[in-house]
Amino acid sequence: MQTHLSQGQPSPGETTWTAAESSRLYGLEHWGQPYFSINERGHVIVQPRAEWGGCLDLVSLVQDLQARNLSLPLIIRFDDILEDRLTKLHGAFERAMAQYSYEGKYQGVFPIKCHQQRHVVEHLVRVGRRWNFGLEAGSKAELLVALALLDDPDALLICNGYKDNRYLETAILARRLGRRPLAVIEQPHEVHDLIACSQRLGMTPLMGVRAKLSVPSMGRWGTSSGDGSKFGLSAPQLLVTINTLQEAGLLEDLRLLHMHIGSQISDIAVLKEALQEVGQLYVQLVAMGAPMGYLDVGGGLGVDYDGSRTATTASTNYSLQNYANDVVATIQECCQPHGVPMPTLVSESGRAIASHFSVLVFDVLSTGTVNGVIPPQQEEEPLLVRNLRALLDTISPDNLQEAWHDALKFKDDALSAFRLGYLSLIDRSKAEQLYWACCCTIAEHLSRQPIPADLQPLATALAATYYGNFSIFRSAPDTWAIDQLFPVMPIHRLHEPPQALGTLADLTCDSDGKLNNFIGSGGHKSLLELHHLQPGEPYWLGLFLGGAYQEIMGNLHNLFGRTNAVHIRLAPQGGYRVEQVVRGNTTSDVLRALDHDPQALVERLRQDSEAAIAAGNLTIPEAHRLITHVEESLRQTTYLGPDMVPH
Ligand SMILES: *Cc1c(COP(=O)(O)O)cnc(C)c1O
Repeated sequence: MQTHLSQGQPSPGETTWTAAESSRLYGLEHWGQPYFSINERGHVIVQPRAEWGGCLDLVSLVQDLQARNLSLPLIIRFDDILEDRLTKLHGAFERAMAQYSYEGKYQGVFPIKCHQQRHVVEHLVRVGRRWNFGLEAGSKAELLVALALLDDPDALLICNGYKDNRYLETAILARRLGRRPLAVIEQPHEVHDLIACSQRLGMTPLMGVRAKLSVPSMGRWGTSSGDGSKFGLSAPQLLVTINTLQEAGLLEDLRLLHMHIGSQISDIAVLKEALQEVGQLYVQLVAMGAPMGYLDVGGGLGVDYDGSRTATTASTNYSLQNYANDVVATIQECCQPHGVPMPTLVSESGRAIASHFSVLVFDVLSTGTVNGVIPPQQEEEPLLVRNLRALLDTISPDNLQEAWHDALKFKDDALSAFRLGYLSLIDRSKAEQLYWACCCTIAEHLSRQPIPADLQPLATALAATYYGNFSIFRSAPDTWAIDQLFPVMPIHRLHEPPQALGTLADLTCDSDGKLNNFIGSGGHKSLLELHHLQPGEPYWLGLFLGGAYQEIMGNLHNLFGRTNAVHIRLAPQGGYRVEQVVRGNTTSDVLRALDHDPQALVERLRQDSEAAIAAGNLTIPEAHRLITHVEESLRQTTYLGPDMVPH
């Protein structure tokens, strides 16, 4: 995709820019479906129940929430979207099973590791009941959450991950509570531990085995399958495990075959191959006398973050319906010729369920832009400065590339001269200002036309930095850790043409705390089209599709804590209800998390203030002001407060 240096100013009275153009510019028309779009006021709107009706103006909602003293940055969780995702997932499998006359059913589980927050898990369990939707745990802590919250006796509780005896015994005993835990053997030694635990308790668990498939997955999570993967049993290990279970008389409790080839599978061909392999393994296990009954295809159902429908990491080349069709048809094709009864199909789709329901809204604090102000001319300027002035006068549409290279050269020469002591600070500043003036003049000539490749650095150099009141390490860690792309865009002023190009910087003091890869209509771009800040007016940006993994992977870098979060539901009579407010971490909270004692810190400062007062360096009102600031900060979130946001 080519970048344009500027969107150009519409002439007064000309209103050429529409919300539809913004929708195209930010790719919203593709990735936003069916939940996000833009209204005629130029605001992002949310349809949390998709085609079932009901619509919220995101900007009005944020205003209302601010009036309730919920400051930005703010995570808004639309519980209806979560429910709609569940409905669509089950709908897709129901359609696929009807289409292929599949004589079995589908029963999904939610992998808790994707979003462990209490209200989210509780909500999924509540609305999932109508499908006996279950949970997947990957650790003892997640098992505890799943055991306590999953009260549907017919829902599955898939127990994955590394297991010690306490994990295994807990899973076994949970059967007595009326739960349906399935302990998945992922490592060769686990079968021995399971047998020992069963003998100790005189009780057996329902069991599963995880196969290590030969298809190497692709993408960033590609090591979840293939010979070198961390989990699963290879074909020989699978055989040994079956024999061991048989000898221990436990084969009749082997009910499930499990696979997981990685998250965000972008290419459906990879999935198909894995399904064929796991389908044949299932047939073989049945032939060896295991009762089986469940086939768990794991996670991996992808999200089309950039809306491109391609087999690239930020996208998928298949729809939810394609996915369900392939799972159903492939497993049927494997089982039918052998007369093996169709298994209940299980999937552990996390990303596909949880990505859409959460929107992060943050405010822009300020921008850093380049200005093209020309320093006044003085007598006897050094040659380098005179050269730059002459260059500035000669820039024309015919010599833009040449002018850009000359400007760069003169600026570098000026810096060398300064380093060697031949240029004063005043003259160096003039040279830099003139260089930027040249850049701005070149850019003006280039506006509204694609930039030639060798002038790209000019576009980047002139781009504004928009400073956001958020931390990417807290709220979008995967953008930093694995270059993941999330849609980011203004949530208002979308009926105005954006007139600046910029990158986003966060509040941390880390130079990695920035976003410079964005989703656009025709691909990815390093600069985002943004609006100029209006004095006294807020400018709000939204980060979308970040509901999976981001909150739990987010960290306390620079001690920025959890943001405020709210759960919103559409009200039956129209409008919305705030179902739940989850306050963000206060400064006190994050200090305590690192073993500091906030009160002791304040007390130390207070004592130092007394000493400074005694020495005559600080007045009593100044001391009071200092301590008040510190105490107030401790009570508030770690982000910039509304009263402190400069305009
Ligand atoms: C992480 C994980 C999942 C979830 O994967 P998604 O791609 O988010 O659906 C499912 N199963 C297992 C075993 C996992 O480790």
